[in-house]
Amino acid sequence: MHYNASGLLKDHVGSSREFTIESEIISIAEDRFTNVCGHVDLLKTGRGILVQAEVTASTTEECSRCLKETEFELDIEFEEEFHPVNRFTGMVEAEGDDGQSPPDSSYRVDEDNTIDFRESFRQAFVSAIPMAPLCKPDCKGLCIECATDLNVEDCDCNETTGPPEWAASLKSLEIN
Ligand SMILES: [Zn+2]
Ligand SMILES: [Zn+2]
Repeated sequence: MHYNASGLLKDHVGSSREFTIESEIISIAEDRFTNVCGHVDLLKTGRGILVQAEVTASTTEECSRCLKETEFELDIEFEEEFHPVNRFTGMVEAEGDDGQSPPDSSYRVDEDNTIDFRESFRQAFVSAIPMAPLCKPDCKGLCIECATDLNVEDCDCNETTGPPEWAASLKSLEIN
């Protein structure tokens, strides 16, 4: 998931390139995204390279109700301007750039004029993971009394008492 931008950086403003990502893996620390696929457009700007990408990946998360490991499909649209560490003639320096230190954002073109997309895409995928992932929309979850997986079998905990009253009043509270 590295792109060599040497050619594009020397090209005139408005030049573009594109490349595709096929079935790659991003594995950084505890984050693991597999089957990373997508399309990346790169556009030379006055200050660097504008990257627009549509990328999909799979990841495994625990269902927030039944705790079963479940595979999720993630879909991101990415747009960021990457600024080169190296100086190129005619290129305007990024805002706040003192001309000495390299840009501190993670959106940068490295010393060897390549862009490493793994960290940028990792961040985008992480923010695309649902807050409360579900293995299926109607997952019944675990019984709060005996921890039986109610998707697999029923337990006896609620048999005599039935659903609590607040559940009924909550149902009548239609939230649009
Ligand atoms: Zn579940
Ligand atoms: Zn139970």
